[in-house]
Order: sequence, then structure tokens, then C-alpha cells
Amino acid sequence: MTILEPGRTIGMLGGGQLGRMTTLAARTMGYQVVVLDPAPHSPAGQVASRHIVAPYDDEWAIAELGLADVVTFEFENLPVSLVRQLAHRIPTRPGVEVLSICQDRLAERMFLQRLGVPTAPFARVFDEESRIAAAAAVPFPALLKTTTLGYDSKGQRRVATAADLRAAHAELGGVPCILEAVLRFEREISVIVARDVEGRVAAYEPADNIHVQGILDTSSVPAAISPSQAAAARDLAVGIAQDLNLEGVLAVEMFVLHGGGLVVNELAPRPHNSGHWSIEACRTSQFEQHVRTVVGAPAGPTDLLKPAATANLLGDLWDGGTPRWDRVLALSEVKLHLYGKDGPRRGRKMGHLTALGPTAEAARECVLAARALLAWK
Ligand code: AMP
Repeated sequence: MTILEPGRTIGMLGGGQLGRMTTLAARTMGYQVVVLDPAPHSPAGQVASRHIVAPYDDEWAIAELGLADVVTFEFENLPVSLVRQLAHRIPTRPGVEVLSICQDRLAERMFLQRLGVPTAPFARVFDEESRIAAAAAVPFPALLKTTTLGYDSKGQRRVATAADLRAAHAELGGVPCILEAVLRFEREISVIVARDVEGRVAAYEPADNIHVQGILDTSSVPAAISPSQAAAARDLAVGIAQDLNLEGVLAVEMFVLHGGGLVVNELAPRPHNSGHWSIEACRTSQFEQHVRTVVGAPAGPTDLLKPAATANLLGDLWDGGTPRWDRVLALSEVKLHLYGKDGPRRGRKMGHLTALGPTAEAARECVLAARALLAWK
């Protein structure tokens, strides 16, 4: 295995919080990081060795990024053509194939289907004909999801009956979609898995994820599932990483059905919001893991050292004024992470808190109590 030695340069497409925490891990290990992001004060750009402020398709910026030793990305809504252009010059990890599968819900579902991984029953909705076929094939109530550019439940409509499908599709702009059955599940979990260039995989403990208004609110580990379910969830994630020939980190979001079965909902080929606890709770954080696999080093150990929970800090917290950081900084068991974003808008992820505890539930209660302390008054 040829490892890019510390001191070499990682190019990063995207400058959000995932890029920021990856950049911090890379710089801790002695790597240079060049971030390309059009926003002048991007969270990752602030901590990078160099921040190229330019649109993603800017020829000069791509040429500059192509001078790095390896390139990666921190979000998947990038033009595949751009990543392909870079891949002609330098190693791109994860690769173009992984990006093109994971940025398109239909391609992702078809990939999972080929692997025999259970998903919600679905059908494609592109035009009038496929809409009629989908309405006949998928049970209602259903969810109509755009195939690209969806996140935090954006680009989704709940459709109560077949008669509502046409209007829902129009509301989403008539763009290519998938229609899928609404599943009744017991809980949502995710598994972060890393695969290095030699094909070795390392999966983290499954996390319990709780969403509020379509946005991840808390993640806690270990998930409250049986050891056999946890093993099955990790096996699913490992199998997916292997079949993708992943070189990098991948989050696999799953539903645990009432009978105990697992259904895969979504893949994200990068560190994930539901794995932030790994910074404090694991021997190798998901961000260090991303750096390791991108530079060609072996994936690090993923053991969970202590139960943990993370709570997101959304811009809504600023509604009553600046949050009371002093209160949380006084708590020895809680760690504060802020992403350096100005403009705390509603629903915008500004930071997170992580707490360790004797159990996942205790850690979750601790982190929720800490977040409540932040609210003004
Ligand atoms: P997604 O954008 O696919 O990650 O969906 C966002 C959230 O919507 C998920 O975390 C679930 O809470 C919910 N959701 C998505 N798909 C389904 C489904 N088929 N059945 C029930 N809930 C769903």
C-alpha cells in the first residue's frame, strides 16, 4: 500500500462542516488541505491550508485543485463530470462510480436491489406513463422523493392516495423522482463504515437516530437493538462498502422494522451527521477515518470506548439571542463543536454537542439537558 505521507496535500470539494471536521483531522495528522468552495467564509475554508473561493465548475479552480496529491469531497451533490475531470489527473477517493451511484436515489436503489439489500418498495416516476405505473405498483400512503439534490427531507412530498400523485409530482417541479411506500418502523439507525484502498473494512457501532421535522436531532450509541441486529446492520454496511469498492467512509441509513428486519433508506459516501460522537467516543473518529482511507492508510480501529450521544445545534437556538455558551462550557461531560457559520438561520446546522455517559440513554439525556441550558433566559 502506498501511503501519501503527512505533508502532502488533500484537495477537498466542498467547505461545509463535514469538510471542516475532516480538514481539522487531516491537519492534526500533518496534511495540507486545499478546499474548493464558492462561499468566502466556508466552515472548512477557515481551517484549511488554502481556500479556493470559486464556483465548482471554474476551470482555473479545478486546475489548482488538480495540483493536490489526492482529491475527496464532503458532499455528494457535485457534477460527476467535474470529479471525472479530476480523476484523470489524480486519485479521487471515493471514486466517480461511488459518487454517481450515491448522488442519485434511483441509481442507489437499483444498486441496492442488485445486491439483494432490502429497501422500501419503490418505483420510478419520470413522466405520465411511469407515474401511472408507479401508482399501481407502490402501496399508499407513499413518499415521492426527487432522485437528486434532496437532503434533510427537502425534495420530498407525502402522497396519501394515487389521485394525489400528479399534483405532488408537479409540486416537486416534475423532475425525476422515486415513489416509495411509507414504512412503519420501530427506529432509525445508521452505520458508518470505512474501507481502505487494500479493501479492508471497519464498521462503527450502529447509532440510534432521532429526527425532528426531517432534520437529524440526536444520535446515540450503542443503538438500543439486540446484538444480533447490530451485527446484521454492520454486515449490511460492510457488504455495501465492499460492493461499491469504496475507498473512503460511507454512512448507511436504515430503518429497523417492528419485526426486527432492516431496510436501507440511504447511502452517503462521506462522514455523516449521525457519526459525530466518534470524535470523543471512538479510537478513530469518522473524520480521521476519512483522511486515513483517502491518503491510502489502513482504516483505524472503530471500537466504541464509551456510550455517547450527539445533539445538533440548529440556527433556531439563536431565536432568543446568542446561546448561553457559558453554561455548556461549565459542564465537564459535554463537548461543544461550532462550525464557524455566520447567519444562524432556522434549520441551519450551526454546531453540535456530544456527551459521554454510562449508557447511551444517559448520554442522550445529558446532551439534551445541556442543549436546553443554551436557550436564552
Ligand atoms: P431521506 O431524505 O430519504 O433520508 O428521508 C428523511 C427522513 O424521512 C428519514 O430519516 C425518515 O425519518 C423519513 N422517511 C424516509 N423514507 C421513509 C419511508 N419510506 N417510510 C417512512 N419514513 C421515511
